Amino acid sequence: MSDESSKCFVCGATSEDRVLLKAEEKGEEKLVCVRCLPPLIHGA
Ligand SMILES: [Zn+2]
Repeated sequence: MSDESSKCFVCGATSEDRVLLKAEEKGEEKLVCVRCLPPLIHGA
């Protein structure tokens, strides 16, 4: 199972590239990789 949505919504990395985490933005479930997560936490 690898559809278009199973990649980081910021940089497009897949779970093959990096660990992906589930996130939710404005009620939409998204995936974000560990590299893009820190800037999101800091409000970038
Ligand atoms: Zn990313």
